[in-house]
Amino acid sequence: MTAGYGKKRDFSQTPEPKARRGEKDDARIFVIQKHDASSLHYDFRISVGGALKSWAIPKGPSTDPRDKRLALPTEDHPRDYADFEGVIPEGEYGAGTVLVWDRGTWENITRKGDGIVSAEKALEQGHLLMHLEGEKISGGYALQRTDTGDDEKWLLVKMDDDAADARRNPVSTQPESVISKRTIAQVRRQEGDGDAEDAS
Ligand code: MN
Repeated sequence: MTAGYGKKRDFSQTPEPKARRGEKDDARIFVIQKHDASSLHYDFRISVGGALKSWAIPKGPSTDPRDKRLALPTEDHPRDYADFEGVIPEGEYGAGTVLVWDRGTWENITRKGDGIVSAEKALEQGHLLMHLEGEKISGGYALQRTDTGDDEKWLLVKMDDDAADARRNPVSTQPESVISKRTIAQVRRQEGDGDAEDAS
């Protein structure tokens, strides 16, 4: 499931984790990694069937139900990636700095009639409703596919519930890691090799 992940990376060069084979763990976790690469984005990942389904969200998640955040699908990542913070060296795929911006558990709440639609089926059909319990974002979120094929695009939208709040803007007011409390600049300074470009 994560073959595409391994093909893109040289594990003798990048500190990112390798995929372990045959790993199966049904605990439903989600993580949002802030990734200061060639362009800054937020990698939104949810565990489905032992891997992390992944989307790159240029503006990050919103807590305002009126915002529709573009989410571009990327390759499945191994579950171990959820804890990864560090610097991906120049020349490697995704070169730049990564921190764990938010994490927690997720539940599939996609329904049809009286029943729950499986996460796999919901993703196949391009419409997934999630309940997230993170440290910065929580409550209902919808992922909706708007374009298919080579230009596949999704939107991430906050559902209008108790956790919705148009006045919050956690992407700008809470920029730090939920694991280490570090900012992108601090991770880069502490874990970079010292000659990486200082993109802010
Ligand atoms: Mn990324």
